[in-house]
Amino acid sequence: MKLYETQELKIYNSIKGEKEVFKPINAGLVGMYVCGPTVYNKVHLGNCRTFISFDLVFRYLKHLGYKVRYVRNITDAGHLENDAEEGEDRIAKKARLEELEPMEIVQKYTIDFHDILNLFNNTPPSIEPTATGHIVEQIEAIKKIIDNGLAYEANGNVYFDVLKYHESNHYGILSGRKIEDLIANTRTLAGQEEKKNPQDFALWKRAEPQHIMRWPSPWGVGFPGWHLECTVMSSKYLGESFDIHGGGMDLKFPHHECEIAQGKAANGKDPVNYWMHANMLTLNGKKMAKSTGNNILPRELFTGDNPNLSKAFAPSVARFFMLQANYRSILDFSDEALQASEKGFYRLMDAYQSLAFLEAKTESTFDVKAWKQSCYDAMNDDFNSPVLIAQLFEVVKFINGVKAEKETVTEADRDLIEVTLSDFIFDVLGLEEVEEANDASSEKIDSLVSILIKVRNKARADKDFFTADIVRDQLLEMGIELKDGKDGTAYSMKS
Ligand code: AMP
Ligand code: ZN
Repeated sequence: MKLYETQELKIYNSIKGEKEVFKPINAGLVGMYVCGPTVYNKVHLGNCRTFISFDLVFRYLKHLGYKVRYVRNITDAGHLENDAEEGEDRIAKKARLEELEPMEIVQKYTIDFHDILNLFNNTPPSIEPTATGHIVEQIEAIKKIIDNGLAYEANGNVYFDVLKYHESNHYGILSGRKIEDLIANTRTLAGQEEKKNPQDFALWKRAEPQHIMRWPSPWGVGFPGWHLECTVMSSKYLGESFDIHGGGMDLKFPHHECEIAQGKAANGKDPVNYWMHANMLTLNGKKMAKSTGNNILPRELFTGDNPNLSKAFAPSVARFFMLQANYRSILDFSDEALQASEKGFYRLMDAYQSLAFLEAKTESTFDVKAWKQSCYDAMNDDFNSPVLIAQLFEVVKFINGVKAEKETVTEADRDLIEVTLSDFIFDVLGLEEVEEANDASSEKIDSLVSILIKVRNKARADKDFFTADIVRDQLLEMGIELKDGKDGTAYSMKS
């Protein structure tokens, strides 16, 4: 018997605006697609929050016993500046600025993205397709939409005919935007007079001579529109209709609205049963974003090297901080909030580690079975990780009570707590054990580095530069940098 047969999971479906009982199309199997990054820059913590939110979803579905196929794309072409219909391709622009090939940019930032998500202990998706690897499929999809009368060619571009689509469908079904408002508020941009209506969006764009990312097509040399890749890659790997589609809240319109229209126009079916949108991470009350510079990079968090931070934080602590908020709520990043999360994180880990040392008695003063179900209830309620974490702290209180001999626990209950905590802390929340940097060990490091500084000074005085350099270089390799000043030698440490 799989857990999903006894646990009733509800998912907040953004297209319905309410929680619904989750029923996959094929019993026991789940298809999930999440919009991945545009790999033209380093990912910031805001991006990481969205991917951590969906990692929680992926992990919990697997924990329930579902076989999940999780597809998350890499956008390596077609995403223009400012999410606009005109302008430079983000990747091509970065390639120009860094004097690299576009595919070098893609490789560099894809590796960075994977490294960072690994540090956060995110599980890799089952398939990670790229837009440039699916140009042929995108051209085929455009042909289908044209054949179905819902797209038209103009001057080497192909546009989706929004008004025609809206005659027998509902454009705005996801975002709640009204077609009349869209018509009233969309301006005709210079160079786009060829569109039937200004709200029509591009499926294929003609490449101007300076546009270096280009492919041949029946409509001339060009490149696909940004929205199309997700329609094509999700239907290729998950089917024309699949279970869950996720992404950040900022992608709801136009990106996901266009995906619905394209899917329906190409295949005649609603592509997605459950739409999930993760909310934004903010810094100083404003959305973290690459374009505005209002962001913190993960590595800055891990080293403490950012003016918004007083110290370094471990990736698991940052992950715990994010999971202490519901994925549908806005979360504001602050040093104080992270410090509070860090304390909670170590309290949870300490309690877990001390379980093995608890003395078992003949009776328990805590209903462990009911507590375990309340952990499931929290996650079954639309992946409510903050409520789950509050439940985990209920058992932490009990464990500390047993330690203080105010409570008692039986051996069977202790084992059940251990298995349940391990399931939720490590498998579902995806946290990892972290060595707590304690004051005693940092004092020891301080004394050891002081001794090595003395050895180096003596070597330098003796003109034994070989020894002096070995001391400096090896320390640097360990992340300890010696700085010579007029008051002697100081050191700084990178974690
Ligand atoms: P991008 O590479 O800009 O397309 O973004 C990749 C993913 O990160 C998308 O799902 C965005 O919705 C998401 N995202 C961007 N900024 C933030 C933020 N400040 N907080 C949470 N998610 C974000
Ligand atoms: Zn997408």
